[in-house]
Amino acid sequence: MTQFEKNLKKYAELLVAVGINVSEGHTVLLNIDVDQAPLARYITEAAYNRGAKKVVVQWSDDQISRLDFTHQTADTLADIPEYVVAESDYFIEEGASRISVRSTDPDLFNGIDSKKIAKRQKAMGIAMKKMREATQANRVSWLVAAAAGEKWAEKVFPHLETSEEQVAALWDAIFKSVHLYEDDPIAYWEHKVQILQNKAQQLNDEKFTALHYTAPGTDLLLGLPKNYRFEGAGSKNARGEIFVANMPTEEVFSAPDAHRVDGVVVSTKPLSYAGSILENMEFHFKDGKVVECSAEKGEEILKDLIALDEGASHLGEVALVPHSSPISQSGLTFFNTLFDENASNHLALGSAYAFNLEGGTEMTEAQLKEAGLNRSHTHVDFMIGSSEMNIDGIKEDGRRIPIFRNGEWAI
Ligand code: ZN
Ligand code: ZN
Repeated sequence: MTQFEKNLKKYAELLVAVGINVSEGHTVLLNIDVDQAPLARYITEAAYNRGAKKVVVQWSDDQISRLDFTHQTADTLADIPEYVVAESDYFIEEGASRISVRSTDPDLFNGIDSKKIAKRQKAMGIAMKKMREATQANRVSWLVAAAAGEKWAEKVFPHLETSEEQVAALWDAIFKSVHLYEDDPIAYWEHKVQILQNKAQQLNDEKFTALHYTAPGTDLLLGLPKNYRFEGAGSKNARGEIFVANMPTEEVFSAPDAHRVDGVVVSTKPLSYAGSILENMEFHFKDGKVVECSAEKGEEILKDLIALDEGASHLGEVALVPHSSPISQSGLTFFNTLFDENASNHLALGSAYAFNLEGGTEMTEAQLKEAGLNRSHTHVDFMIGSSEMNIDGIKEDGRRIPIFRNGEWAI
């Protein structure tokens, strides 16, 4: 076994142990690119070794996806057959744990008609409704993790000469971000989860009514619903088992009040969304709704996203990440939300997580909406943090408590 193979195997074991926390009798659903078959085999093996009953692999392929988007009409792309929905619903019924390993080229759909992308995104959002509701309420264990795809590595490390060097550098960055090089990565994660949960608890105890963001180009007042709950890594599924939904993760996050967001906010990192890159976005909010938005790159795709449904023009997530987070210190732009969101304060357009409200996972969709949690067929994070960002928490009596100063925790 080469050193890389040893690391890859260790990585697979970490995802299975900490990420979805596989134990006796579990069904595991793995979504992964064909180029990552060696990792898929290690994940499958690790899951069976921990007692999984069944591991099902769903393969994807960037090149075939691009061919599909090039040759199929928008209507064909938006026609999601019933068996696809039934399959997705079946795995939710089964209580299957889901691992999605992302390695996609951030520019995959560059040049593809944005209307096709928008139509497909919307159709998939509707078709996968049950799955989204189940994962957003943590009914099943789920994990988003990464693997170093060639095109993605080229985008992150353009100055390296060969594809081998680029891929090796990206793997190294991925391994570092999940603390794989620690003596005991599993113990390290237990400690990390505790630190993030303590921070979340502190924010919950303060019972803020709103957060006020200021930074160059940004002046945003963001209301929080009553009984909001910030969460850090480490969630509980319906069976009471602990899992970690994102690896890496550095954030603590909650749900904003979908109708109490006012002011202006600018993005500070590129966003890879639906195979396209969006840059230098600016959003104006009034009563929670985006009333005006622009982007220096990808504006049309951004406008299609905002128009996807009513909830797509409101916020569903508010996440805090210090500017000195390990991923931010790498100095890299990953063009991949799993990494870039964990290097920066961020917000998300679209659906809110039910568990971000006290008792939310027991509520119906209508009750969540009533409580101020945004509902939508989409959920897209965008990065707004920088070393110049200040955030105040506002209390019921109007008092202001510093939460962030110059991009770092102040609470
Ligand atoms: Zn987030
Ligand atoms: Zn998010």
